[in-house]
Amino acid sequence: MSGRPFSSFYTTRLVGEIFMPPTRAVGDPSTDNQHKGRNGFPRGPNLRNSSSFKSKLPPSSAVRRSSPGALGAGADAVSGRVRVAVRLRPQNAEELEADADFADCVELQPELKRLKLRKNNWDSDTYEFDEVLTEYASQKRVYEVVAKPVVESVLEGYNGTVMAYGQTGTGKTYTLGRLGDEDTSARGIMVRSLEDIFSNISQETDTVTVSYLQLYMETIQDLLNPANDNISIVEDQKTGDVSLPGATVVEIRDQQSFVELLRIGEAHRFAANTKLNTESSRSHAFLMVQVRRSVLGRENDFTSEHDVSSNGVNNFKPPIIRKGKLVVVDLAGSERIHKSGSEGHMLEEAKSINLSLSALGKCINALAENSAHVPVRDSKLTRLLKDSFGGTSRTSLVITIGPSPRHRAETASTILFGQRAMKVENMLKIKEEFDYKSLSKRLEIQIEKLTAENERLQKACEDEVERIKLEAQKQISEAERDCAEALKEEKMKCQMDYMESIKQLEEKWMLNQTKHASNGFIGTSHAAEGGMPSGNDEVSELKKLLQNEVQQRKAAELEIKNLKDCLLKSMKPELAGGNADIFNLQKMLEEESQQRKKLEEEVIVLRHQLSQLTLEASQTTSCPDRSRTGNGFVGLDSVSSLRHLQFKDASDGERPSISNLHEKVGLHKILSLLESDDPNVRIHAVKVVANLAAEEANQEKIVEAGGLSSLLMLLRSYEDETIRRIAAGAVANLAMNEFNQELIMAQGGICLLAMTASDAEDPQTLRMVAGAVANLCGNDKLQTRLRSEGGIKALLGMVRSRHPDVLSQVARGIANFAKCESRAATQGTKHGRSLLIEDGALPWIVQNANNEASLIRRHVELALCHLAQHEVNAKDLISGGALWELVRISRDCSRDDIRALACRTLTSSPTFVAELRRLRIEV
Ligand code: ADP
Ligand code: MG
Repeated sequence: MSGRPFSSFYTTRLVGEIFMPPTRAVGDPSTDNQHKGRNGFPRGPNLRNSSSFKSKLPPSSAVRRSSPGALGAGADAVSGRVRVAVRLRPQNAEELEADADFADCVELQPELKRLKLRKNNWDSDTYEFDEVLTEYASQKRVYEVVAKPVVESVLEGYNGTVMAYGQTGTGKTYTLGRLGDEDTSARGIMVRSLEDIFSNISQETDTVTVSYLQLYMETIQDLLNPANDNISIVEDQKTGDVSLPGATVVEIRDQQSFVELLRIGEAHRFAANTKLNTESSRSHAFLMVQVRRSVLGRENDFTSEHDVSSNGVNNFKPPIIRKGKLVVVDLAGSERIHKSGSEGHMLEEAKSINLSLSALGKCINALAENSAHVPVRDSKLTRLLKDSFGGTSRTSLVITIGPSPRHRAETASTILFGQRAMKVENMLKIKEEFDYKSLSKRLEIQIEKLTAENERLQKACEDEVERIKLEAQKQISEAERDCAEALKEEKMKCQMDYMESIKQLEEKWMLNQTKHASNGFIGTSHAAEGGMPSGNDEVSELKKLLQNEVQQRKAAELEIKNLKDCLLKSMKPELAGGNADIFNLQKMLEEESQQRKKLEEEVIVLRHQLSQLTLEASQTTSCPDRSRTGNGFVGLDSVSSLRHLQFKDASDGERPSISNLHEKVGLHKILSLLESDDPNVRIHAVKVVANLAAEEANQEKIVEAGGLSSLLMLLRSYEDETIRRIAAGAVANLAMNEFNQELIMAQGGICLLAMTASDAEDPQTLRMVAGAVANLCGNDKLQTRLRSEGGIKALLGMVRSRHPDVLSQVARGIANFAKCESRAATQGTKHGRSLLIEDGALPWIVQNANNEASLIRRHVELALCHLAQHEVNAKDLISGGALWELVRISRDCSRDDIRALACRTLTSSPTFVAELRRLRIEV
């Protein structure tokens, strides 16, 4: 067996190569030109001239380009002649016997690709084929030389046809359709083709579909679905492409399923033929294998998302789909063309077979002769094989012959068919197209991916923006808060500084005013500030004063005497007419005597004072720890010290209580002692009464018994300040009761208290007096009278003491008074500005609003707030500098109620609000 490579059968490459005539020429072309055939193909040198050399030499053909875009852009059309191989079947048993005495009618020269058909014993015709396969040629070799190139073309996207033509029994089915179940080497072209296809395609991207049909008496039957027994041929009007849309198309994934399909098809073919009472050799069998390959699609696969994102959609070339169709045709036996003498059905059948096969012959003849008309439409066979002959298909024909000389005619006819077929030129065209569907699918997926990615990024972006926004807002609000706090602090500080400096300036201004106004007074007060002179100093001072007075009196007496003398002298010359002068002198005398009387009275007072001071000095020496700063007025003198004094004098060692004493002696008796001539008795009596008055239970009794009048009487007397201090304390205690307050007022108490206030220097006396007046200040009914009788002035006068106890009582009195006024203003019974302001209390109030003694400060703050509640006072308060104090109270006061009151007052008064706005102060 010659082992030629299959490529010698097909010498063209599919694309771009030029078909060259076989190089294995018979003889040497350069020396044996005369033997060249009419196409210039060399004839064998040993061939006789007479013997016909039946060889169709392939015309040299160049690549012809098809119009671009016919199938796939720029696909080239390549000329491809129909290749024809001849296969000789070995002698079968019958032939071995029947033809034993006869020589074979054919003689093969495979290495020369020639076949000699014996005409007679001495003559034969020689034919040249593309391949000559002897009876020993293996199925594998037959596949490789006949079908493999076609299969390769199909895999590359061309249509391909492998067809077997020959007399029944010569091995067409053997060559094409053997399944090789027992012996794999016996597998025919169909099985091997599919094997080749499966090993060359990608299971992922490529598909293989199969249809299996039979054409019998111009009827197409589906061998994969016997019920489908009349399939029509559909021709595309535009392209002329022929298809069988009614045929079953089965997609197969592997060789095994294909073999199964073939087996089913064969079984159906057998069944169909049995039914029709015919043989398989009388029908044409078509195996149609569609190979759909995504060629460039693999190259363009989107391997990763990175490719997409980096290259974008520019990478999206449509994948190219190559659709190669392999048609394997097992034709009906060709002998029927010649032996159509049968009758009846057989005749019809023969006609049909004849029709198809002779139509095929005619077409091939026409194509071989380059005839203008090719009668393709004459039969279904030729219509189905339109693409295989003279079309775009790569076509390979194997003609099968038997060796028997008895069938020489059929053999010759088969050979002639093959020879003519060799002349048929096809234009191979690659069947490729852009896979827009797949591209669109891919693009859709890609769009979905990109959309999802985009959404993800957008979401991430939005989240990020949101995060940054929140962060920024947080930072802004933090900064704003910090800023606002800092601003508030700064503003507060500035306002406080501002207030402080204005206040200082005002204070300075007021100080200056005061300085200018009363230089001499300051001197006096300085002297007073020097502190309490000691008892002895005072005594000597008073002695001096007394001496002075005595001297003055003496001087006055002297002057009177002188004046009397002068009068007497002057009377002598002018006695008669000097009545007017006498009257004047008498008047002067009276005046002088009155003055003397006054002076004498003063001397008496001074003597009393002296004796009192002497007594006090001795008491101070004997009781240095005596309390003088008791909280209540009970503490005028302690009860114990009073008792001590009293009972020391009694010298009986008993110590009965004050109440015992008062029970023992009787209230009236004690009160009568207040008017005793003995100053000592009076002092003791007033102390007892004061102590009694400190107890609420006794107050009524004291008043009823006329104690109040007696006490007031004591205030009226100038004789002794101790008595007045104690008496004032008692009055103060009694003045805690509203009824008593009115009584005190009715009896001219306020005048007496005012007098005492102006006379007294002892802070404790002042404290008692101030306390009494302060109590009276808390009575709503007494306001006007209190003021008109000098109560307020008296209070203010007492501040000269500067003793905190006195100041505290003064402040209390002012606060009480202011409270009553504000109440009256609210009730509408009081109009006009405050009497306190009228009486000049404001400067002291403002000065002491921030007194370091909390009790004083508290009273003054309250007084200010009450004054400020009455709008009519606002202007005075502002001009008096009280506004600053109110602002301070509204901010700093430790008592919440006072602070709130100040705030409320400041914000409710239009005058204050305007002033605060003017001063740019916020409350
Ligand atoms: P056809 O299909 O042309 O009518 P078949 O393929 O049915 O002929 O072959 C007829 C007989 O010849 C079958 O029994 C087959 O096995 C046998 N045969 C055909 N070709 C060969 C061959 N090359 N070698 C051996 N046996 C063959
Ligand atoms: Mg057959």
